[in-house]
Amino acid sequence: MPTASDFESRRRERRRRERLRKKRIRAVIILIALIGIIAVICLAISTCSKPGENTPPSDNTITETSAPETISPTVAPVFENSLNIPSPTEENNLLQIIADSGQKKRCYLTFDDGPTQNITPQILDTLRRYNAKATFFQVGSLIDSNPDMARRVYEEGHLIANHSYGHNYEKLYASTDAFITEIEQCETSIKNVMNGEEPFKLMRFPGGSYNAGDHAAIKQDCKEALKEHGFYYIDWNSLNGDAEGKSKNAEELLEYLKQTSAGYNNLIVLMHDASSKQATADALGPIIEYLSSQGYTFHRLDDIDYQNASLSSSTPQSSTSPSSSSNVETESPTNSTPSTAPTTNTEGNSANESDSSSNTSSTSTAAPTPAQSATQKPSTSSTGAIIIQ
Ligand SMILES: [Zn+2]
Repeated sequence: MPTASDFESRRRERRRRERLRKKRIRAVIILIALIGIIAVICLAISTCSKPGENTPPSDNTITETSAPETISPTVAPVFENSLNIPSPTEENNLLQIIADSGQKKRCYLTFDDGPTQNITPQILDTLRRYNAKATFFQVGSLIDSNPDMARRVYEEGHLIANHSYGHNYEKLYASTDAFITEIEQCETSIKNVMNGEEPFKLMRFPGGSYNAGDHAAIKQDCKEALKEHGFYYIDWNSLNGDAEGKSKNAEELLEYLKQTSAGYNNLIVLMHDASSKQATADALGPIIEYLSSQGYTFHRLDDIDYQNASLSSSTPQSSTSPSSSSNVETESPTNSTPSTAPTTNTEGNSANESDSSSNTSSTSTAAPTPAQSATQKPSTSSTGAIIIQ
């Protein structure tokens, strides 16, 4: 028989178990609550740290979305083709390299003697309107005095090339050492506006590289010095005549360009970015439209398609002569007397590119003056480059 004390002990045991059960339930409830709180905190932290719509846009986002449509890419394009051309230590006459390249119907618009505050922006606006790329042979001292303009040329995807530091013939061609010093000075000026990027080592001789006129002999030595320093050089094979004879209006410049460019496969067009060349800026749109209608595309001088060079250079030259109107230039043929005396250009230098120069290369693409065209017999090479005979 269970006694009263047995009942009492059982009742106590039930109460103990009941308290224990309630404690466990409370512990479970507290644990669940803690887990819930921790989960909420974690969720809040992860939401706050996630970049996105709740955070202000970064500077890059602002730049991308707010940039005006008319602004061109700020990084100059890099052309793989430039890596395929011969090294300047082998061949540094870029005009010859283009003639040998095998490429077709390319036009290289070139603008010498800038940058300037008044003409450079007009040229750039026109190039941008037609989505055409060009090469600017700039003078180092003018880059230093107009860095904003030089930088804009670079940022809008054009090529800046070397046109000496001072463009003073007497100083520049005093010796090969003086020449190389100026080329290196100009190179430094170019690099300064290219954010330290290494420029394409290309220069154009003020007055042209031809072996005639003043400084003819030293220029030939300078070509070798350029080769040793890893520089290409280039002249031109067509021009708008903006530094020839009396000043021309835009219509006359277009006509001059039509005459000097006829019959060429690849064009290297000489024009000037000097402060007095308003007509050059005015004529550029019509010139681009005309050349486009003739099938040309516009490229920088470091964009040369050299893939078919061996095929091209092995092809016999054609005896086809361009039309008589194409043989217009002021470059003189080998061993001839320059047709025009050096003149003073708008920047006070002793001559412009198209004066007082002649060509020693048998494969030059330079064309003669209208006066010379009667006596010279230019023909086109397989690439369309005119050969002065
Ligand atoms: Zn010049």
